Amino acid sequence: MLILLNTYPLLVSENMVFRSKETTMQSSVSVMVYSLSGLDKLNEENVTAAMAVVEETGLSRILVTDSTGKALYDTRETGGAVGRYILYTEIVQALMGNDAFSCAYHNGAFRSRASSPVLYQNQIIGAVYAYEYDTEQAALLEGLQENLLKLSAVIGVVVLALSLVLSMALTKKIGKLLTAIRQVREGAYSHRAEIAGHDEIAQIGEEFNSLTDRLQTTENARRRFVSDASHELKTPLAAIRLLTDSILQTDNIDPATTREFVSDIGREAERLSRITEDLLRLTRLDSSVLDAPSEVDVLPVLEQVLRMMSLVAQEKGVDLTYDAAEGCTVLSSKDELHQVIYNLVDNAVKYTPAGGAVQVSLEQEKGQVVLSVADNGAGIPEADLPRIFERFYRVDKARSRAAGGTGLGLSIVSDTVKRRGGTVEAANRPQGGAVFTVRWPAVKGGGAG
Ligand code: ADP
Repeated sequence: MLILLNTYPLLVSENMVFRSKETTMQSSVSVMVYSLSGLDKLNEENVTAAMAVVEETGLSRILVTDSTGKALYDTRETGGAVGRYILYTEIVQALMGNDAFSCAYHNGAFRSRASSPVLYQNQIIGAVYAYEYDTEQAALLEGLQENLLKLSAVIGVVVLALSLVLSMALTKKIGKLLTAIRQVREGAYSHRAEIAGHDEIAQIGEEFNSLTDRLQTTENARRRFVSDASHELKTPLAAIRLLTDSILQTDNIDPATTREFVSDIGREAERLSRITEDLLRLTRLDSSVLDAPSEVDVLPVLEQVLRMMSLVAQEKGVDLTYDAAEGCTVLSSKDELHQVIYNLVDNAVKYTPAGGAVQVSLEQEKGQVVLSVADNGAGIPEADLPRIFERFYRVDKARSRAAGGTGLGLSIVSDTVKRRGGTVEAANRPQGGAVFTVRWPAVKGGGAG
């Protein structure tokens, strides 16, 4: 840019000077040619007489030759060329009938040369040659060059200072970001990058902060899950140890008591295996390994679950009914659907007292397959509704445990449904009881799976 600033204006000005020289020199030469135009033949006397009329031209040298190139008139005082043959390019050109002009700039001066033929009745009878040595315009040009150089130097210094300031600010911001990244890498998930401004680096900082936010949330969830899981596993293990210790440490224990204790141990072991099974299921859902989905008709799976649950419901005195449409097909797997429907119906029966009713419905609505499981039990306190799908979250721990719950059923439902692009929500019914609604994207024109 600076090189352009230093060369382009100079080239343009030089060119302009050349062109103005050409016009002035050629007009001076034409004036002289005009004053010689009345002569039929040129000789020293008549040329000198004619040239005396020409006003002061400011030219450094004027030469007039005859048609052979012999100088007849020369304004140069010392070493004049009168009487000698002059073969300057411009004179040769003029004697050949052409106007000629040349101009060059070097060593702080413009040297311009112009010539024209002198004609008499269309015959070339001689040539006029003018030469100008101009240092004035050259000095102007040099002044311009000097000013441009100064300007470039100032621009250079300003640009350098600006880029220094900018790069320092940039380095500082990047440094902050790097510190934040290192801190978070070391595990300080609460550390945030504080970067002022709205530029790209500040935006990267914001993105980094929201990434760290998510990392922190995930990390907190992971810690809570691990501590909840160990706690859940510890409880049945502690019960088993207590029961075995009692058997071992009691002398002459009667067989009926032993049997009771051993069946308790069996129940706790069963709970342990239920928890581990559920945990394994969740781990599988967390990892990205999923069964390839296929088109599954929901109705046969629903009927299978209800057949299984109807005995449990009957035993408990809960009325289990369903109302299902045919042709509801979703992209999933039979096992997954079974798990989801089973967990929801199992909960509904579990948390509905004797004499209550559980209604299951399946329908297709606006491109979605909608499954709802409604009961008329105690419902779920509003405050607990948003957390009901969290792992190990229970409204009433003792009741859930007594009913054989692991606290993982609803998270399995939610994770499974979400992995297949669906949603699940829990609500309380106005008439009392809870209702769970699952929506999957329906497969259009799907057949049996
Ligand atoms: P659990 O194994 O304890 O049933 P879930 O994850 O299936 O675990 O359910 C979490 C909690 O949600 C339960 O402990 C219970 O408090 C509540 N819940 C689930 N379904 C119902 C329902 N139909 N009615 C009332 N409360 C329910």
